[in-house]
Amino acid sequence: MRYDKDLFFSYLAQTSSSPLAIEIDYAEGIYLTDTTGKKYIDLLSGIAVSSTGHRHPAVIKAIESQLAKHLHVMVYGELVQSSQARLAEALCALLPPGLDSVFFVNSGSEAVEGALKLAKRFSGRTEIVSFGNAYHGSSHGALSVMGKEHLKQKFRPLLPMIRQLSFNCTADLHQISTDTACVIIEPVQGEAGVIPAQLDFILRLRQRCNETGALLIFDEIQTGLGRTGTLFAFEQYGIVPDVLLLAKAFGGGLPLGAFIAGKHTMNCLSHSPALGHITTFGGHPLSCAAALANLEIIHGQQLHLQAELIAEVFIQKLDGLALIQEIRYKGLLMAIEFKDAETNMAVINKCLELGLLTDWFLFRQSALRIAPPLTMTKEEANCAAELLAQAIYSVQ
Ligand code: PMP
Repeated sequence: MRYDKDLFFSYLAQTSSSPLAIEIDYAEGIYLTDTTGKKYIDLLSGIAVSSTGHRHPAVIKAIESQLAKHLHVMVYGELVQSSQARLAEALCALLPPGLDSVFFVNSGSEAVEGALKLAKRFSGRTEIVSFGNAYHGSSHGALSVMGKEHLKQKFRPLLPMIRQLSFNCTADLHQISTDTACVIIEPVQGEAGVIPAQLDFILRLRQRCNETGALLIFDEIQTGLGRTGTLFAFEQYGIVPDVLLLAKAFGGGLPLGAFIAGKHTMNCLSHSPALGHITTFGGHPLSCAAALANLEIIHGQQLHLQAELIAEVFIQKLDGLALIQEIRYKGLLMAIEFKDAETNMAVINKCLELGLLTDWFLFRQSALRIAPPLTMTKEEANCAAELLAQAIYSVQ
């Protein structure tokens, strides 16, 4: 078994000098099992992906049914594929009327790229507005709208005409103008360590976009599909974005992303130039079949309501522990803030030892991430929270 780890370090491109490097053998429900047989409760869900748990039987069944029919047949947008059409129909039925046209892609970053291009093409404008501490992905366009300079610096030049405003700062919003093609925002900033947008800020932002004709893009790649306590986080603000981005949990464990807009807006991608935005594998039939089953589970079982209940179990157990400076959360997207990154690291390592898989946030290394599958039961949450509390005590 040592062999695979050697191969991992020898042949796979490394993204940091300290990967977790646990050798995964098997995953089911909220559990990951490594090659030594050690079981971990998954508090990460592959970073907000496995919301219906690993290998949900209905998702596996949907994949198997599609497997018996066809795999890839043609680039996205040419042939009628039932798995894509049925998923788009089901998704739009759960969205407000203004969001009724779906463009499938493969990942979150690609959804961001597609949406930025759509906004430029639709508006004929060039400026793009994003926010400090925002994370939208690693591709060039997505990196251009990221709100952390240290990850951008070495990759410049990036997209021109990016205007970055302060998150939750209403006073900055007047800078959105009739030159602005779009504003891209996470309703809850994930990688910043779970920072929800304030209601008055979003209401004012929606209003400013209406005044200027800038498209409002909600990046719900991490917050979508029930993670924050409603099916989509935008519902909590009583507004509808012009473009909605999904990925991560959308594919039920398979790669899938989408940008969704009104038909009138989306139609501009079909001409002048035609084929101006295309993708070979976007909306892969296996991913779409899995995504439909996954969506039916989340909506059918109202897993978004479960998110709130499970979050409360963690809060009850952890609130008041001496080492914890703050608990921030929206549904089951939670950040436990410690005084520094070293303390957090020590807790994370102790968690791993105790059989709890967790991590820090990209832009907030002093905060520990709790984003387990939404299928986690209260008993399982109790057990996980108990182990986490033990890890925290051991570090004090
Ligand atoms: N937007 C947000 C809010 C994200 O959290 C992520 C991934 N962490 C992305 C975009 C990029 O998604 P992907 O990694 O699938 O490209």
